[in-house]
Amino acid sequence: QSQEVSQVRIDYHAALLALQQHGTHMVCSGKMHTDRVCRFDYLCYCTEAEEFVFFHGNSSVMLPNLGPRRFQPALLDLSSVEDHNTQYFNFLELPAAALKFMAKPVFVPDVTLIMNRFNPDNLMHIFHDDLLPIFYTMQQFSDLDDEARLVFMEGWGEGAHFDLYRLLSSKQPLLKEQLRNFGKLMCFTKSYVGLSKMTTWYQYGFVQPQGPKANILVSGNEIRQFAKTMMERMNITRGDPTDDDYIVVFSRSINRLILNEAELILALAQEFRMRTVTVSLEDQSFANVVQVISGASMLVSMHGAQLIASLFLPRGAAVVELFPYAVNPDHYTPYKTLASLPGMDLQYTAWRNTIMENSVNYPERPWDQGGISHLNKEEQDRILASREVPRHLCCRNPEWLFRIYQDTIVDIPSLMASLRGTVHLKPNVKRAKAASTVHPGRVREPKCQTSVQAATEAKLTVSWQIPWNLKYLKVREVKYEVWIQEQGENTYMPYILPHQNYTFSENIKPFTTYLVWVRCIFNKNLLGPFADVLLCKT
Ligand code: UDP
Repeated sequence: QSQEVSQVRIDYHAALLALQQHGTHMVCSGKMHTDRVCRFDYLCYCTEAEEFVFFHGNSSVMLPNLGPRRFQPALLDLSSVEDHNTQYFNFLELPAAALKFMAKPVFVPDVTLIMNRFNPDNLMHIFHDDLLPIFYTMQQFSDLDDEARLVFMEGWGEGAHFDLYRLLSSKQPLLKEQLRNFGKLMCFTKSYVGLSKMTTWYQYGFVQPQGPKANILVSGNEIRQFAKTMMERMNITRGDPTDDDYIVVFSRSINRLILNEAELILALAQEFRMRTVTVSLEDQSFANVVQVISGASMLVSMHGAQLIASLFLPRGAAVVELFPYAVNPDHYTPYKTLASLPGMDLQYTAWRNTIMENSVNYPERPWDQGGISHLNKEEQDRILASREVPRHLCCRNPEWLFRIYQDTIVDIPSLMASLRGTVHLKPNVKRAKAASTVHPGRVREPKCQTSVQAATEAKLTVSWQIPWNLKYLKVREVKYEVWIQEQGENTYMPYILPHQNYTFSENIKPFTTYLVWVRCIFNKNLLGPFADVLLCKT
């Protein structure tokens, strides 16, 4: 019993017998390695070889059973970053009989989530790649509850924000290097391997220049539910909504500085008639920063990972992202994409420094802080003369690093001009309510009636009943969309209509077959499904 990892009691001999007889059992979800999460009984890890081991026993199951395709390129991604070749998961296979010749296994009794953190030194990566995916992977599998054990296999140390990972479960997360302490062979009684990518919205530019993911599957609601839980676990309550409104400037004190921060703060306070405060990760705990941001009407910051904290802003707040000279805001949009998620209800504005003299650069710094002195003279001259960093791949483009690590004197008139055009601060953002996201059902009993008036004139009347769910809803605006297509043609005419029937006479020909689709629309943009197509013969 002394070999157990935690207090949860398991019968060591029963566990060993089960492993020896039954072997490892695996069932996964997902068709591809990029969308796969696997559940295991008795997945083992050999700390000497640094390999996971699947023991073939009498009851072993390996689903999907890919044969050698398991290595093309991998069984699954261990981090939430798609198809990154340093983040692949696989296991070695052994017959269960081999256990007789191996060190006695140590059993981990907790239900365990095994995964890689992608870059635990960077707040954007911590939230986007790790915390949100872990949080929602845990919600997908009910036995990954508050008592679940997280195991981080990427091989890094704790990192600057390990406390945030601790919020996800009541048990201390384990790092790869700590697994050795448990012996040569560890066996996870029940484990899940891999992370759901459902909540990620950004790709960092490993194969094509960075940008929003092609198929975003998360909305502001899920981000806000996550933020709410994280705040509860940090013992933060959102500021009193009757308190005055205020603006937050998130300052970086190490690099990518705002050189006239005091002037910026004064100008913001004056323009919006609001108290303006600064926060920084160098001066405050993260929890403290979140507390302040969670009650703010506006967050102003240089582009950088600290802007991920905008997920804690109240609905209706504004995010103002500042970009150094020669950096095009449209090419770097992780925070814009976040703020623009449906239901996130944040107002986003980007501002860029277009005045070279207002920029301070650091060619002599090390390459990873944007230095370029290691490059040849022509390349340095080209970069210095360039007015915009061309699109590029991640992660070591020297021109990009040179420009993004510049300090900036923010030109106040130009910033205020762009804010006046885009930011509309309502008093009391803290009380803003979520807009409804209930979609209409199908319209019911769609019908068409036709009549022929003359050799060239015909009428087509389409009618329908309201969607079933409408009678339970208060909807500001209900409209219907009708599409009419002449059979055999490849274009259609769309109409937006306020009532439940309409007679079409323009463009309707006698002795012709029309295909008609009808759907309901709530509040301009909540589209319902089309009812079954109607075949209408004039
Ligand atoms: N960081 C910070 N203040 C600074 C510079 C960096 O708090 O003056 C933090 C930043 O928020 C991020 C980490 O340090 O979490 C790494 O910063 P880096 O500049 O490498 O990444 P970026 O912000 O460009 O994503």
